[in-house]
Amino acid sequence: MKIFCYGVIDIEEPYAQAWGKANNVEVGTTSEALTADTAKLAKGYDGVSSKGIAPVTEEAYATFEKFGIKQLAVRQVGVDNQDVAAASKHGITLTNVASYSPRAIAEMGVTQAMYLLRHIGEYQARMAAGNFTWDASMSSTEIFNCTVGLIGAGHIGGATAQIYSALGAKVLTYDPFYDAGLEPYTTYTDLETIFKEADIISLHTPLLPSTKNIINAAALKKMKSNAILINMARGELVDTQALIDALKTKEIAGAGLDTLANEVGFFRLEKPYAETPKDFQELNAMPNVIVTPHVAFFTKLAVKNGLEIALNDAKDIIDGKHSRHAVN
Ligand code: NAD
Repeated sequence: MKIFCYGVIDIEEPYAQAWGKANNVEVGTTSEALTADTAKLAKGYDGVSSKGIAPVTEEAYATFEKFGIKQLAVRQVGVDNQDVAAASKHGITLTNVASYSPRAIAEMGVTQAMYLLRHIGEYQARMAAGNFTWDASMSSTEIFNCTVGLIGAGHIGGATAQIYSALGAKVLTYDPFYDAGLEPYTTYTDLETIFKEADIISLHTPLLPSTKNIINAAALKKMKSNAILINMARGELVDTQALIDALKTKEIAGAGLDTLANEVGFFRLEKPYAETPKDFQELNAMPNVIVTPHVAFFTKLAVKNGLEIALNDAKDIIDGKHSRHAVN
């Protein structure tokens, strides 16, 4: 059996080869993303796997169908860049990895919140200018005196609830799906209460029509002036311009963003800074904002689990078995 993997990053390569050896499967890899053009690289393979957020269009699935390939194992949670209907039309079963290390993403969100809460970026900006003073605007709050509002509490939001709860924070959650298992760590409430009461608002929903721009100008206006917004989920959950305006007018105090609505085209690439989008440059220049290039998942355990779970699914489907991670 032969499986071809797209979007392979350097630390995945040894895990890919070790999995291939253990399962007697030849694993081919490329760092290139799956596109209509790169789909042809899978010629001669029995199955495929991809990772990344660049849109995958019908041509890629049609090419796989022509090669006799019946599945595409996505090595990540989100399949919002896939055309699920087109995949089905071409007989391609898509699988995702619903949970590879929720703690990895949860911990990045908490890390960014703590950095912003203690104004570390602001101190660094002042010191870089030779200013070692501080003032009332830099005073802070202990986490155990904070109210944290989670929007979405599945795998990652649930792990985030557990961490904040362990730190002593009051944790509120808005999620239409109630999970009794989270009761020890959080109190379910409505979105309005979260906007009004939370000192830290952390987003953990998928990108859906119901969640697109869930943080818009109206939502930002309802938040506390000391509120910190954390988005480890998808950029499109936030109206970026409205966020920039709210930060400039001090409607909210800071933002930690691992993802931006327009990140495809520069995240994971090297570019002259001047060619990066203006809204990114504006955010990146603010000492009370952290932008990271979609790396919340990036721990060794998460990468290893993501690869192994996806390739196990690919192998099962090629062998004619069912995968419980099928999304179509
Ligand atoms: P999950 O499916 O386990 O949980 C998502 C939760 O969102 C569910 O409980 C669902 O009921 C809830 N939800 C759906 N619609 C909602 C709405 N309108 N309002 C509030 N809650 C709503 O997903 P997960 O594993 O926790 O991942 C969440 C998201 O994080 C993914 O969809 C992905 O976009 C993103 N993600 C980012 C990274 C990264 O590296 N930054 C890594 C993995 C996942």
